[in-house]
Amino acid sequence: MTTPGLEGINLLSGIDVKNKKVFLRLDLNVPLDDKTITDTTRIDASIPTIKYLLENKAKLIIGSHLGRPKSSHDKQYSLEPVAEKLTELLKVEVTFVDDPASDAPRMLTPNLATDQLILLENLRFSKGEEKNEPELAKKISSYTDIYINDAFGACHRAHSSIVALAEMVPVKGIGFLVEKEIKMLDKILTLTEKPFITILGGAKVSDKIGVIENLLDRVDTFIIGGAMAYTFLKATKSLTGNSKIENEKLTFAKEFINRVKTRDKKILLPIDHIVSDSFENPQNIVTTLDENIPDGFWGLDIGPKTQEMYSNEIRRGKVIFWNGPMGVFENKKFEKGTFTVAQALAESAGFTFVGGGDSAAAMNASGYADKVCHISTGGGASLEYLQGDRLPGLEVLRKIKK
Ligand code: AMP
Repeated sequence: MTTPGLEGINLLSGIDVKNKKVFLRLDLNVPLDDKTITDTTRIDASIPTIKYLLENKAKLIIGSHLGRPKSSHDKQYSLEPVAEKLTELLKVEVTFVDDPASDAPRMLTPNLATDQLILLENLRFSKGEEKNEPELAKKISSYTDIYINDAFGACHRAHSSIVALAEMVPVKGIGFLVEKEIKMLDKILTLTEKPFITILGGAKVSDKIGVIENLLDRVDTFIIGGAMAYTFLKATKSLTGNSKIENEKLTFAKEFINRVKTRDKKILLPIDHIVSDSFENPQNIVTTLDENIPDGFWGLDIGPKTQEMYSNEIRRGKVIFWNGPMGVFENKKFEKGTFTVAQALAESAGFTFVGGGDSAAAMNASGYADKVCHISTGGGASLEYLQGDRLPGLEVLRKIKK
């Protein structure tokens, strides 16, 4: 399979940044509990690029989004806690500019030393950022010599700081994180070792159809869990009780199972479940005997027999991609299936890729994060790349349009 890859895109290591004003677009969209950062993965993943730029004497301005603020008054989405974290981790002076479209950086940037940087407030506080409007981009480009995108988790968004700004700055490229993420995704798309296993879970079949379709010819085994599994099970005429079903995807699910089988590939569906008679307040929790879920019960996790079957299969994998939890893992009572999958991935000797969001959080919480080859910082971006879409944030940086 050919991939868009990194052809025609400048890598940071090949750009002379000395004494240049560099605007670094990062994805510092971290989870916050009030003002406390509860997971620093995205900050940690950005550190190598920041350090490199400072060590190579760039005058550094950083911009990022955080959450989905409705306006600049939505202060719970302020990047201020991130400014404090960067100061602590990098031991540098961070000047926080509380209007992302401010003129202040133009005055401040020329005098920045190598132990100083500027962090702009949440770029989404600026109207037009999410509509790719030119105003914010014009402002930032007026004081920027070099544009570097290291915001992998935002590369699938045609936003002003991702696309319009990159179009306006003549010298541009990607940072170390985006470079690594794309190289890892390309491994998933091109490695030929077998078996290639794709594990999909989470809320909806419809979110994952693009990946399923694009990988169908290469994958040997699909393993399905999470709420997605019940739509597939219903399509096979199993009983699914009150579990979440996407009725409009039943035909797709039925046809997909047939397409997999006629190609001599495998699709594994749960053979038992952990269920409860209440979704909101699950107290009465039981394990089903087989794949059928009785009326009045919601499937909330894969059962023990399924956990064992999935683990055995995953451990044999040579290339493994995982996206989406096996159950409602936010609740401790239904986390076992997801953590079992995390452990099996860690025990596999193959190339293991975990695709962002909830699966990355589960991988981290499982204690096995350092035993997989790659945990992506971008769930949406990695899914779009794997389904064969062009990421706007990469395409705008390509010198030769492919
Ligand atoms: P996604 O963003 O598509 O990966 O979906 C993640 C969400 O799917 C998580 O919030 C899970 O709680 C939810 N989920 C996983 N399994 C189930 C299930 N059996 N029933 C309802 N929701 C589920």
